[in-house]
Amino acid sequence: MPRQFFVGGNFKMNGVADSIKSIVSNINKAQRDPSTQVVIAPPAIYLTLTRELADPSVGVAAQNVFDRPNGAFTGELSVEQLKDAKIDWTIVGHSERRVLLREDDDFVARKTKAAIDGGLSVILCIGESLEEREANKTIDVVTRQLGAVAKLLNEQEWSKVVIAYEPIWAIGTGKVATTAQAQEVHAAIRKWLGETISPAVAENTRIIYGGSVSDGNCRELSKEKDVDGFLVGGASLKPAFVDIINSRL
Ligand code: PGA
Repeated sequence: MPRQFFVGGNFKMNGVADSIKSIVSNINKAQRDPSTQVVIAPPAIYLTLTRELADPSVGVAAQNVFDRPNGAFTGELSVEQLKDAKIDWTIVGHSERRVLLREDDDFVARKTKAAIDGGLSVILCIGESLEEREANKTIDVVTRQLGAVAKLLNEQEWSKVVIAYEPIWAIGTGKVATTAQAQEVHAAIRKWLGETISPAVAENTRIIYGGSVSDGNCRELSKEKDVDGFLVGGASLKPAFVDIINSRL
């Protein structure tokens, strides 16, 4: 079975109720490629609003989740609370959280495991800094980030994970990875999955690209063999998000 194309929209800390409503209504009304899975991630306070308004075929993701079930963790949201709000997805390990909020590989792995244990699917973000790329450490970095997760998941649980390869130097910078750069890393990740987890997991896991994806560059990127979709930041707030959803039409 071919891997289903996946387009995620990460609104980050953008929008208020009015603008979120208009983004969601735009997505609802659009002619969307029915073979593409769409998941949008609004700020936490708008998760329930988004879930109520979005077409049932559009998934809704939290941008983050905590790894403990409940308790004295001021400001955090649990997996159970997300499930209770009918949210089925969460992003974990976004580089903005890894870098600005110092989330390390093990913490990201624990969140991934907690999310899956509680019935959520996960968009697991990985990616290298410019410095790491220039030092030829890209594959070391992404496989180290994945390795922390692999220690906690069994083979079955990988079916709940979409891997988002997001080179930090391409996020929000307008500097998109070339199709060759994206394909090279995606292929290396798939190879690693095959060697470390299983050939079936390598074959079935979606590996999506994120970092300055736009309606202008999505088509070319989507033609690459190992690019199974996108995680879109800035452009997910714009009408052009629909063109990215439809990049394979
Ligand atoms: P960008 O963000 O599309 O604005 O570069 C992507 C992301 O951080 O997921």
